[in-house]
Amino acid sequence: MAEAERPKLLVVDDNESNLDILLGLLADYDVIVALDGHSALDLLRQETPDVILLDIVMPGIDGYEVCTRLKAHPRWRDIPILFITAKTDEASLVRAFDVGGSDYVTKPFRARELLARVRIQVEYHRAMEQLRRMAVTDELTGAHNRRAFFELAGRLFEDAQARAEPLAALMLDLDHFKQINDGYGHAVGDAALRQFAAMVQALLPATHLFGRLGGEEFALLAPGADAQTATELAEQLRAAVAELALAAAPSHLRMTVSIGVATLCEGAADLDALLRQADARLFEAKRDGRNQVRRTARLSTRASAERSGGGCAGELRP
Ligand code: GH3
Ligand code: MG
Ligand code: MG
Repeated sequence: MAEAERPKLLVVDDNESNLDILLGLLADYDVIVALDGHSALDLLRQETPDVILLDIVMPGIDGYEVCTRLKAHPRWRDIPILFITAKTDEASLVRAFDVGGSDYVTKPFRARELLARVRIQVEYHRAMEQLRRMAVTDELTGAHNRRAFFELAGRLFEDAQARAEPLAALMLDLDHFKQINDGYGHAVGDAALRQFAAMVQALLPATHLFGRLGGEEFALLAPGADAQTATELAEQLRAAVAELALAAAPSHLRMTVSIGVATLCEGAADLDALLRQADARLFEAKRDGRNQVRRTARLSTRASAERSGGGCAGELRP
């Protein structure tokens, strides 16, 4: 197995001779060990194993309790738990499943059976992880897909509102993109979408959320960004797109993007309203000639924008 792909297992057992046997049997895996439930929970703050092999009877918190706690937490609940147990009575085994366990192996171990059960859980976990990734990722660009964007954006909106912190939304739409497809072919268009998304993601801080809403239309949420910061970011993105040399296209070919900006402090009641505001400004940027950023309603002067909250007066810097 290639080092990077070696599945990682967390083995939790208080019995050292058991551990020695398990480490010997699991030599093909990257194994980390905890000697009790509390240490296992601590270790899981830094490590993300593919599968947890969990003893039931341990001092302190027992395996059932460790499992119950992990299954209650979104960060850990998807890691399969394979109980290790000397108890083979039906009630003990049923309880292992009731608390969220995926399977069990009984002591003393039968080597091939143990390996088969571990392998099945590793494969299951990896397949599920892949499906979970696919469910939230736009296949062409690797950006968040529409569904994931709205889900994560909803949380960012609520957080910003609850903490009264700034939040900005940008709507981005590539200009005359149909002409790129029509003039140079769909493959060049696809490559351009990929390049665009990669470039935007490379320029964004990790706190920002970027998603493909559909076609050549993207959205971005910038937590902590006031109108000024968001506009500067939008302008930086606009300029970078205009400079981008497109793969597989004639070297002179450039594409441009139009961007609408809206900020939470303008009073949007919910995420939809915030995105609608940004979208209305995107529409104006298109109408006014494309390859530009709009952050306030078209007819507002700065003074009237401040009065109407268009730029959030408190935020504006000269
Ligand atoms: P505007 O400046 O008004 O936005 O013009 P536009 O041509 O960009 O807008 P329009 O909505 O008319 O056309 C969008 C084009 O984007 C049409 C469609 O073929 C193209 N497109 C959408 N999704 C994809 C894709 O996944 N790959 C490629 N290559 N093209 C796509
Ligand atoms: Mg377009
Ligand atoms: Mg469009």
